[in-house]
Amino acid sequence: MNSDTSPLSVRQRTELETRFSGCRCGRVSGEGMHLYRVMSGDDELLCRVSGAFRHAAAKKNEYPVTGDWVALRGDGGLIEGVLTREACIGRASAGGTTEQQILAANVDLAFIVAGLDGGRNLTRRGIERYLVMVRESGAVPLLVLNKLDLCADIAGSLQEAEEAAPDVRQLLTSTVTGDGIDELIDSIGPEHTAVMLGPSGVGKSSLINALLGEQRLAEGDTRQSDHRGRHTSTSRSLVLLPGGGSLIDTPGLRELRLWAGEGSLDEVFHDLEYYARNCRFRDCTHQGEPDCAVQKALVDGALSHERYESYLELRKELDYLHRRNDEQARAEEVRRWKQISKSVKRFYKNKKG
Ligand code: GDP
Ligand code: ZN
Repeated sequence: MNSDTSPLSVRQRTELETRFSGCRCGRVSGEGMHLYRVMSGDDELLCRVSGAFRHAAAKKNEYPVTGDWVALRGDGGLIEGVLTREACIGRASAGGTTEQQILAANVDLAFIVAGLDGGRNLTRRGIERYLVMVRESGAVPLLVLNKLDLCADIAGSLQEAEEAAPDVRQLLTSTVTGDGIDELIDSIGPEHTAVMLGPSGVGKSSLINALLGEQRLAEGDTRQSDHRGRHTSTSRSLVLLPGGGSLIDTPGLRELRLWAGEGSLDEVFHDLEYYARNCRFRDCTHQGEPDCAVQKALVDGALSHERYESYLELRKELDYLHRRNDEQARAEEVRRWKQISKSVKRFYKNKKG
């Protein structure tokens, strides 16, 4: 394996040696239609999944995604399997289904970028929202406060960020003056894979370009040696950084929708959860019951209204997602039973006939 790509976890290495013995290992750096760009050693290959893989894969999200470590057979054109993923960034997939869509696999660091130019670019709710997703993924969050050159009130901004994301390391950067860029580069270790999250306009592309130095996040070179087929639309989404480490930037990461379980929300709002736990009403919605511990904390000023509001908003959004999920599961169950009863009927009919 290339020394400057992220190494496998112990679990992944064991898996490669046992389940995929004799295979070489590679890392998916781009995805197209049924085609994957895979870095393996010094090679970059265009691969497909093997027939056996296609037969075994039940769900869409079992197919390789950018950042995945994969087992390659023979000269490397066929993907035999995906090694168990470590932290993944996902989202609720578009188009009705609530199955999680994985956008980037094996991510160690997630930079949550906000703009210090005032207005909408640094909102607590925005930061909290991304933080919930990062906590869900298992990656380590880092807060990048960009556009330092335009900041009128550094102390105030830092405090606001601290309130939204307590215990998260903050980096102050400017792609214009170059302030903080070295710290940003240093925060990514040679074994790390990072993603850059945040709303549009905060400076993600500018920061990525600063990380890449001369190099640019270019579209995939279609003239690469191609194992089969000419219609390759794979573009490179994972790049090796000149300073060590890797960065994943897929189009999907740019328009991330909320996806998280209960646990992640509680983790981000652990201050609020503390009051909620101490609330003496078991079924309390904490939205106005007299004597509610959360309401008390609000009145006392121990809990800020803004934070409470964003908790409620995120909670509502998650509840909606979970409900949709349940409905889908029920519909699936009904469909399954219909099929079973149909085949039972057919069985008896054949027996009679
Ligand atoms: P993205 O949508 O998050 O990828 O943001 P971009 O990288 O496209 O940046 C949005 C705008 O902000 C562009 O006009 C950039 O030139 C500008 N920008 C990015 N970083 C900085 C910065 O540190 N300071 C200032 N003043 N402008 C910046
Ligand atoms: Zn309560």
